[in-house]
Amino acid sequence: MRVAVFPGSFDPVTNGHLDLIRRGAGMFDRLIIGVLVNIGKTPLFSIEERVDMLSALTREFPQISVKTFEGLLVDFVEAEGATVVLRGLRTPQDFSYELPLAQANYKLNKHADTIFLATAPEYSYISSSGVKEIFRFGGEIREMVPGIVYERLIRLK
Ligand code: ADP
Repeated sequence: MRVAVFPGSFDPVTNGHLDLIRRGAGMFDRLIIGVLVNIGKTPLFSIEERVDMLSALTREFPQISVKTFEGLLVDFVEAEGATVVLRGLRTPQDFSYELPLAQANYKLNKHADTIFLATAPEYSYISSSGVKEIFRFGGEIREMVPGIVYERLIRLK
């Protein structure tokens, strides 16, 4: 059984994330979305809200589960019985950032291989931080996030 972890902050989950999740779900027997509990950052949405939204958005996929983790990613991967870390590549800058991380994770755990999926071109400009910035200044973000995320963002105003 091939089990993969798709880790991230998902603050908030975007259409780009969802595209990667859907494609990943078709590649593995199980896909675990790992929502990072990052105590160093003040998030827009609480960890519970992020898990809630991701769970609602992936309800139709029985092979997907949403969990939180803190500490080392490779420890979470191992605890979940996974052997793959799934990450997305939007730009060459993503690659520069992701390659040493993937190599460090491999060094820490030889059973955790990172697999990159090239982002669909229509989503490659979307990032959670970009969405937050645009939203903060009143820009239109409707096409960048799923409907339920949009509604929750509006409620924050
Ligand atoms: P992190 O803080 O770990 O980068 P993110 O929530 O920003 O967490 O991203 C989680 C994963 O989703 C990363 O692999 C990232 O490359 C991928 N990702 C982010 N935005 C997009 C997008 N627009 N399209 C596809 N994948 C994306």
